[in-house]
Amino acid sequence: MKKLICVLISLMMLLGASACAEPAPAEKLFTPGTYSAEAQGIFVPVKVQVTVTENEITSVLIDATGETPELGGTAAGTLAESILNAQTPNVDAMSGATVTSKAIIAAATDALQQAGADIATLDAQRKDTGAGTGEKEEKIVDTEIVIIGAGGAGMTAAIMAKQEGKDFVLLEKMPYAGGNTTKATGGMNAAETHYQKEQGIEDSKALFAADTMKGGHALNDPELVAELANSSSDAIDWLDTIGAALPKISFSGGASVNRIHAPEDGSGVGGFLVEHFSAKLEELGVSILYNTAATELMVDAEGKICGVKAEGKDANYVFNCKAVILATGGFGANEEMYTQYRPDLKGTVTTNAPGATGDGILMAQALGADLVDIEQIQLHPTVEQSTSMLITESVRGDGAILVNQKGERFTNELLTRDAVSAAELEQEGQYAWIIFDQNLRDHLKAIEKYVKANLTKQGDTIEALAAELEIDPATLAKTLSDWNEIVKNQRDTQFGRTTGMNADLTTAPYYAIKVAPGIHHTMGGIRIDTKAQVINTEGKPIPGLFAAGEVCGGVHGGNRLGGNAVADIVIFGRIAAQSAFDYLK
Ligand code: ADP
Repeated sequence: MKKLICVLISLMMLLGASACAEPAPAEKLFTPGTYSAEAQGIFVPVKVQVTVTENEITSVLIDATGETPELGGTAAGTLAESILNAQTPNVDAMSGATVTSKAIIAAATDALQQAGADIATLDAQRKDTGAGTGEKEEKIVDTEIVIIGAGGAGMTAAIMAKQEGKDFVLLEKMPYAGGNTTKATGGMNAAETHYQKEQGIEDSKALFAADTMKGGHALNDPELVAELANSSSDAIDWLDTIGAALPKISFSGGASVNRIHAPEDGSGVGGFLVEHFSAKLEELGVSILYNTAATELMVDAEGKICGVKAEGKDANYVFNCKAVILATGGFGANEEMYTQYRPDLKGTVTTNAPGATGDGILMAQALGADLVDIEQIQLHPTVEQSTSMLITESVRGDGAILVNQKGERFTNELLTRDAVSAAELEQEGQYAWIIFDQNLRDHLKAIEKYVKANLTKQGDTIEALAAELEIDPATLAKTLSDWNEIVKNQRDTQFGRTTGMNADLTTAPYYAIKVAPGIHHTMGGIRIDTKAQVINTEGKPIPGLFAAGEVCGGVHGGNRLGGNAVADIVIFGRIAAQSAFDYLK
């Protein structure tokens, strides 16, 4: 589905006729012509072609094919425009696409140097200083519902609202949709689904609820958890109806039975859902108002929601409305906010999308919303630190082990995320190596992404891999042979692991990725009830205000199980929409 992302912006289009009035710099900056260069992005080399006259960059063509479509593609467009505006390659990286941005900047620098440019001179003469100081247009829009945030929860609510024939707007502060939802790799937990029945899996909603409470250390709100479990099979049916079926069922940490539902083709659930939700919205004729951040919720004299203020790129808005659905996600990308509640997490890398800055929580708090479990922040134990890329739980679920720098296992790798993260932090250097073999690679599509991104180390024998990792070869070889014996006997006498033991690690070549904990999910947030109504500090609903997804607290308690974030956004996104419709009646 990776499509060619090419961006060509002509300087004349940008500057218009008035550019002719500017005197050309006397100094010759370039040898006229077209020059190309490339630099490694996350997955592939990014190609940049620049065309220059003697003293102007007149076009920038960026080919970011193969980078993540949401971020890489947006970065290509944004940076081509910035380089043309600034007339230097040294422009700001796009947040959330830093690696792709850096590759674009490096390739543009190279191409311009081939054209004879002195980059320091271009920097000294940069043209974008003082840009963007013009007055913004003020717009007033009347609508019924404002949905804030186009991640999984917001898009779910928007599809429902359109199907119900409601008048609404969907705001997204980033230039693309998807938020943290895009990053969900595993699947969606649901019980008593038709897929489970067809595949002979016995499960119950009560067991799903019990597993979720246990996983969350019983800190969860039992009513929200019951709602999550009871509505889960309906949500799976609803996904079927919009062409986003999740028929592939497997095991995920903390579940008593196979319950996590994923796309048929093995692709990551988040990207799959965002792609299908976007397609459905397009089919329904819904356009997302991008680059537009909600900044304030407005209430009337009776305390009922009556509007939203938002700041867009070219205009500021007041949306007059009767109901608001907050779907702004969590605050895992806002270091100031998470260290306010958890000072111990200062400096920890985050896997979160750049829009996860807690805006919805702050806006709701300003209206007196209550917060729950706000200090409950989940670390994911397998995050590659240089790219913040999450190594999906499925790698361990399919049989990988974790070893420390001594080459020894140190935990049951499939304990809950908080427990595995804590065990890793006790190891020397506070990191681990995740070890797997060719057989596992052959069966898990996600691995190709890690190999392409150069995150994997490889060896034709375990000893050769150990040498790559600077681990004692004999120790790693013994760890692997002990592990293969454990798999054979289906008995982990060392750490009591009972799952993810269907295949041993005996097929060369062998692989390793260096991982450490990263901030992954903010479990706490706004207090809601089972109707997704936002509850204030006096225990009463704020009339007209609904919330769904990671912006809320209570569903996951002290630890979120893999597969429950996607369940949360689809289930409560639907409930929030339905409650808003009922409220409007
Ligand atoms: P969830 O999983 O709960 O749907 P996501 O992180 O997937 O959460 O999506 C939340 C979305 O909300 C992101 O795309 C984010 O950029 C967007 N967002 C966050 N704050 C605002 C805001 N103030 N205005 C508009 N959109 C916002």
